[in-house]
Amino acid sequence: MARVYNWQLGREMSYWYPESRPQKQFAAVFDVNKCIACQTCTLACKTTWTSGRGQEYMLWNNVETKPYGFYPLAWDVNVLDALGEQRWSEGRYEGRTLFEAARAGERVLGWRPEELDYAHPNVGEDDCAGKVDRGHAFGGQHLAWFFYLARICNHCTYPACLASCPRTSIYKRPEDGIVLLDQSRCRGYQECVKACPYKKVFFNPLTGVSEKCIACFPKIEQGLQPQCFANCIGKIRLAGWLSTPDKANPDNPIDYLVHVRKIAKPLMPQLGLEPNIYYIPPLHAPDDFMHQMFGPGVKEAIAAYRHADDDLAGLLALFGSTERIVPRWKRSGEQVLGLEEDGSEIVRVPLREPVHVRAGYDEGRAILRTNCP
Ligand code: SF4
Ligand code: SF4
Repeated sequence: MARVYNWQLGREMSYWYPESRPQKQFAAVFDVNKCIACQTCTLACKTTWTSGRGQEYMLWNNVETKPYGFYPLAWDVNVLDALGEQRWSEGRYEGRTLFEAARAGERVLGWRPEELDYAHPNVGEDDCAGKVDRGHAFGGQHLAWFFYLARICNHCTYPACLASCPRTSIYKRPEDGIVLLDQSRCRGYQECVKACPYKKVFFNPLTGVSEKCIACFPKIEQGLQPQCFANCIGKIRLAGWLSTPDKANPDNPIDYLVHVRKIAKPLMPQLGLEPNIYYIPPLHAPDDFMHQMFGPGVKEAIAAYRHADDDLAGLLALFGSTERIVPRWKRSGEQVLGLEEDGSEIVRVPLREPVHVRAGYDEGRAILRTNCP
């Protein structure tokens, strides 16, 4: 085991290989508050990459309702339960990671789902936690809650799938940090399926080898966002490049949201993988659940999001505005600009969408436009 630095934990940790960061790290921010669980992302991925034989059950992108939705069944409950107590102290993780908690003779603390665990990808959809009395509606104090969590491979800085593979079939591309699986090397041992806590590697029983999300790298290489981003109805996603905190650049939209404003948080950072998909947490879920799911700083993130200033609101308006990856951004008065690295303009959106109130009665045509003028 090597010693590597994991900035999400605020400390060094043990990992199977020495630290080797890519020249650029593919990363993304998902705004949980905007997801409507339409599953368009799921289908965009499915029809692009996993429509073949043996891939029927695979969802490289899935959207589950938290707290009772899971794909595969109870993936997070199982991994958190196996890990045991997880302690944070002033932003530093004091508990053990999945690498540090590995059983003797294993590289990662993992578990392999059964076939049936993949059988119900929509289990728990729209089930709420908390109590809603008969005749009552949502609202008021929000005693009942749920939210939608869209998930893809996190293209982790310290991938558990990669660490666990005895064939070194899994690699992280030095040019963009995308984690890929070389199927010609794979012999189907499924150590990666067992090791990935997010369960984003899938075994194909017909080919006998494993498969995983490839971050649509043929699109990334053309400067385009992946299919599940470009097709997102709720415009919740923004793909780009993430720096380490010491090199954070406020002109980089992902750096700005993750490092500068700190409103986007990693999924279960305590597992130790330094995942690179970040989430703007939901506004209405309980603090302890949010802390377990996104680590420290969630309350502050929600407060900043709730009271977004013009810069933050402007950057959030860039989400879903173009299929191109936007490596730079700036606000110019009432306009927000998405820019290339060299400063040339990709897209421009208004900070505030204009609101047009249509008169109830149209005098020109002498008709009522609404039935309640
Ligand atoms: S397409 Fe977007 S809004 Fe729809 S489920 Fe996927 S992430 Fe959510
Ligand atoms: S999310 Fe899982 S499959 Fe993706 S890089 Fe991390 S460990 Fe590997």
